[in-house]
Amino acid sequence: MRSNLAGPRLLLRRLREVMAEPITAQERLDKIVVLIAANVVAEVCSVYILRADGVLELYATEGLKAEAVHQASLRVGQGLVGLIAAEARPLNLPNARAHPGFAYLPETGEEEYNSFLGVPILRAGRTLGVLVVQNKSHRTYLEDEVEAMQTTAMVIAEMVAAGELEAIAQKGTGLDLSRPIHAIGVALSEGVGLGHVVLHEPRVVVTNLIAEDTDKESHRLEAAINRLRLSIDDLLSSGEIAAIGEHRDVLEAYRMFANDRGWIRKIEEAIRNGLTAEAAVEKVQSDMRARMLRQTDPYLRERLHDLDDLAHRLIRELMGRQHGPLASELPQDAIIVARNMGAAELLDYGRDRIRGLVLEEGGPTSHVTIVARALGIPTVGQVDDIVSLADAGDAIIVDGEAGEVYLRPATDVENAYAEKVRFRARRQAQYRRLRNKPSVTKDGVEISLQMNAGLLVDLPHLAEAGAAGVGLFRTELQFMVASSFPRMREQQAQYEQVLDAADGKPITFRSLDIGGDKVLPYLRAIQEENPAMGWRALRLGLDRPGLLRTQMRALLKAAAGRELKLMFPMVAEVDEFLKAKSLVEREIKHLRRHNHAVPETIRLGVMIEVPSLLFQLDELLHHVDFVSVGSNDLFQFFCAVDRGNTRVSERFDPINLAFLRALKTIVDAANRAHIPVTLCGELAGRPLEAMALIGLGYRDLSMSPASLGPVKAMLRSLDAGRLSARLLPRLEPGHPETNIREFLLRFASDMDVAL
Ligand code: PEP
Ligand code: MG
Repeated sequence: MRSNLAGPRLLLRRLREVMAEPITAQERLDKIVVLIAANVVAEVCSVYILRADGVLELYATEGLKAEAVHQASLRVGQGLVGLIAAEARPLNLPNARAHPGFAYLPETGEEEYNSFLGVPILRAGRTLGVLVVQNKSHRTYLEDEVEAMQTTAMVIAEMVAAGELEAIAQKGTGLDLSRPIHAIGVALSEGVGLGHVVLHEPRVVVTNLIAEDTDKESHRLEAAINRLRLSIDDLLSSGEIAAIGEHRDVLEAYRMFANDRGWIRKIEEAIRNGLTAEAAVEKVQSDMRARMLRQTDPYLRERLHDLDDLAHRLIRELMGRQHGPLASELPQDAIIVARNMGAAELLDYGRDRIRGLVLEEGGPTSHVTIVARALGIPTVGQVDDIVSLADAGDAIIVDGEAGEVYLRPATDVENAYAEKVRFRARRQAQYRRLRNKPSVTKDGVEISLQMNAGLLVDLPHLAEAGAAGVGLFRTELQFMVASSFPRMREQQAQYEQVLDAADGKPITFRSLDIGGDKVLPYLRAIQEENPAMGWRALRLGLDRPGLLRTQMRALLKAAAGRELKLMFPMVAEVDEFLKAKSLVEREIKHLRRHNHAVPETIRLGVMIEVPSLLFQLDELLHHVDFVSVGSNDLFQFFCAVDRGNTRVSERFDPINLAFLRALKTIVDAANRAHIPVTLCGELAGRPLEAMALIGLGYRDLSMSPASLGPVKAMLRSLDAGRLSARLLPRLEPGHPETNIREFLLRFASDMDVAL
């Protein structure tokens, strides 16, 4: 049987009238089901809405028993309605009772109906409910009718999203849209943040669904698609994108989709059926999102994600909205939620109002993570579907330590976290009070505490945390957050700004340490079996001297008239340092020849992070002005424990006899040679470990800014002489106690050392 009402456009016109009427939500739903039943010529039309407890409740019906409204319910996955909700897919059945999923609800009196058509009520890929029609006869519903149902479902989805249905929800049964969600991701940047969701790319909510003039909408679509194609072509041809790389692949995929006839045809069809251009894109996008949620193949999922992004861009083109929230419009406690974002975009928000960051993607070495860490923004990554689950303004908690996110948290969770944040704030206040106190042990041993940095945004910490200087400036970070290779001038400008911001405090620059896990998106990635031991850092610099020379020139110019302190990473042979040194000397000559000013003093050092240097210490110390122990790499190579592999993270424990002996060998040799020695690995930033280092004889430690307070609190309560007297004999062969960690913990507890 063919529906006898004139097409979907008439239905949409009627729906628009119903939406505009000043009536209650219940009355509106009641009218909608009558309208659909008439349009599809169905005996029954019902709306089920998904509650926070996973139950689909009957909210309105034409044809079933009226007293079943707000009484009849099914769980997600139960019956045909539950199946549609679970799979987010329509079901069109001429003989519903024969379907294995069929479940009979006696309270509704639906026994006589045979044919069944149900569509999910979707918004941004999330199921919010199910819309159903039923007939006594055995009929297959036509494609037009499925379309009409899907469009009506969009209208109902907007009612749910606008909060209209909350008023008619039964007490204690909130809708699914407000359900608390506990999501597990990956901890990317430490700290805990409580606040409210700010969507980085807010979903443009299409409220104008129904077209007045279909031809006009088709033209709008065509023009927007053309603009979209041009903007992608522009991006692809701009010099910013390297010939090969992730960015380019994504854009190529966008270009392919933007020219995909099938996709565009689907949108055009929806317009012909009476939707506005943006509502048509939204409808096709919604189907896409539902497919995406079901997709398990990671490659296809990624492609669907791309298409989803593209649809979003198209909606923005149509609605003329290009940008996310302005920094000035952010709430005081913004938690940014994004699929992914560039480092520069995060910086654009400004630090003041951001309490946290949640990403669907993002890994430990993504640029945005590096910047988030530098800014001290608690961050959790790889949180599936968070963008479609969250709504702007929702309460949210980011736990950057456990890698967890609580969206719309229950009150007890919120209270527990608020207490945790207060506790941390009290500790921070205690540490701040130590800022200007001398960094001296109880027995008068001075310890220099420096900080590690890598971006300009790190520099304010120098004063805030009271560091003596920057013991390790990781120059590769500027390269990692840039979208193309920084030119000499840009490098020079950054180093100048860093030196200016340091205001006379010493900065130890480290030459580029790229390669290994530090990948530059615009540099062709080389596949290596063991990248940590591969073509990285100084090895790359010596083999491609152009790169190193440019950086040296930028540093020498930036430090003109001041002191330049520079060290080289991943040195395995003394000769490598000598080569790097002669390259610097040649650059100085070059600059002098061209009448450029050069630094007043230059001090060149080496990072001790390859164990082979332990057996060349005397030769090395003869040539260098200083050394710095990179304990992260030194330990990973010394004990053959990958620093980035979570499977062996328990074994990454540098407090072991052999490694402490190695560290002692270094500090003793440096002291004998009167060469300054610093330790700048993560080890220096943990109070117990830092205590051990002081016990070994280290007097200069460099760490992340957040560690300065805890380490200073520790050392001010430590008797260094006493510790050395008890620790050092334990490193001698034959000592009965070999568990050094236990000894250190006992010592700290007996001596009241603040750990
Ligand atoms: C180290 O290896 O200890 C170090 C400080 O350098 P990075 O962590 O940058 O490799
Ligand atoms: Mg290193």
